[in-house]
Amino acid sequence: MDENRKVRVRFAPSPTGGLHLGGVRTALFNYLFARQHNGSFVLRIEDTDQTRFVPGAETYIQECLAWCGIQPDESPEHGGDYGPYRQSDRKSNYRQYAEQLVANGHAYYAFDTAEELEAQRKAHPNFRYSHENRTQLHNSLNLDPAETRHLLESGHPHVIRIKMPVDETISFDDLIRGHVSFDSSLVDDKVLLKADGMPTYHLAVVVDDYHMAISHVFRGEEWLPSAPVHILLWEYLGWRDSMPQWAHLPLILKPDGNGKLSKRDGDRLGFPVYAMNWKDPKTETVTKGFREMGFLPEAFVNLLATLGWNDGSEQELFTIAELIERFSLERISKAGAKFDFEKAKWFNHEWIKRSDDRTLVPYLTSLLADHGVYGVDRQYLSSVLELVKDRLTLLTDFWEQASFFFKRPDNYDLAAVRPRWNPEKTAFFVDMTAKLANFDPWHSAELESLYKLAIQASGMKVGELMLPFRIMLVGGKFGPHVFDIAALLGREETVARMKAGLQAFNQAAH
Ligand code: GLU
Repeated sequence: MDENRKVRVRFAPSPTGGLHLGGVRTALFNYLFARQHNGSFVLRIEDTDQTRFVPGAETYIQECLAWCGIQPDESPEHGGDYGPYRQSDRKSNYRQYAEQLVANGHAYYAFDTAEELEAQRKAHPNFRYSHENRTQLHNSLNLDPAETRHLLESGHPHVIRIKMPVDETISFDDLIRGHVSFDSSLVDDKVLLKADGMPTYHLAVVVDDYHMAISHVFRGEEWLPSAPVHILLWEYLGWRDSMPQWAHLPLILKPDGNGKLSKRDGDRLGFPVYAMNWKDPKTETVTKGFREMGFLPEAFVNLLATLGWNDGSEQELFTIAELIERFSLERISKAGAKFDFEKAKWFNHEWIKRSDDRTLVPYLTSLLADHGVYGVDRQYLSSVLELVKDRLTLLTDFWEQASFFFKRPDNYDLAAVRPRWNPEKTAFFVDMTAKLANFDPWHSAELESLYKLAIQASGMKVGELMLPFRIMLVGGKFGPHVFDIAALLGREETVARMKAGLQAFNQAAH
């Protein structure tokens, strides 16, 4: 590698739908590498396949990156010196290179119609347009030049295909996989320029990586089979010296390790695969994302970083700053990384525990609003959070763990109280309610001593009187330490809930 070359990397998604976590990991590794080397991280939208274009997908990708905190330095949204950053806006730049390849004998015009190709596929089930059959197909390799000219001039629909060499070894050194080589005879003659004048991915990616001075390409392993085509294009276009270094990232596998993790696996196994909720504009169906499921972006980024990478120590929790510092290509594994949702939740749980109020309160405020709770006092919310924080795996668990701090129980777990309810207990609670109504100071420890002394005096068992108290305050057998709850709810609210609970218990007992 040219040590003086400025590091410029790119994330080049196609705007075709939700952003798979593997895509975000690719973006992240690009970002980390760029930051580590004071380089630039470019977002390029690869939208040359008009048939797969989905409105809204580009904005969605930008929002995902923003949510993860991996903002590009150059992008369609923010511009930069190498724009435009959307391939459809660069359309006019590609044809000349395809034509140049034809002129140099490395590509050719193909006039085969869709019907002709379909007939070939019917006749030869494994049909690939390649050196094996190109001499029998409808292209400029076989037509005489005058006829080719005539077809072109009369506007006959055509594509331009690369003319793959026969029996050549194409090789390169992948930064992760080491020396990789391909037999050129096994690669088909990919289309470079389509009949609509748009380049295919193969042509566009090379032309743009060149013009955008990309120094390193980090992309998923599924692109490895395309590498020989790209390398030849770099060479045939006379740009071999500027070719970026390649790094093909290991696949993210299904939890059982059998194949690549797909969106369908997520639907089937009940976990998200997309970074954020994605609403298909045609069907209006919504696919759940990590964000809406209650993941912190810090946790999401951390878990993605560990899919195929580790820093060589036991450490698993990393801030983005630590990742920038520690990231290294040498420690990316070649083997696929199994996705484990339980582990993903563990990361989130740990990150919630590490996060301060400033980070968490905004999420919780909007979660409460989703449940119709508005205008909660900031200090109160912080105190509630302090009590339940360790119990949260997903941010959305907050509602289940803490909703009773914001609204009185709608119903009580009467089945847990009724069988053992008796007049002595009623008397105890009537008395306790009266005591608490005037009690001071209203602190957890003091409330606990008062309560326990009263239990002792009553001669009843502790458990017998603790559970009903909890159920009066929260509705069921859950929640943090009951005196912490009472302390936070405050005197008035605690007393009111005790009265309401007592009434419900007594009614249920009759
Ligand atoms: N447009 C390709 C994709 O959707 C980019 C592949 C590459 O990075 O070369 O992933």
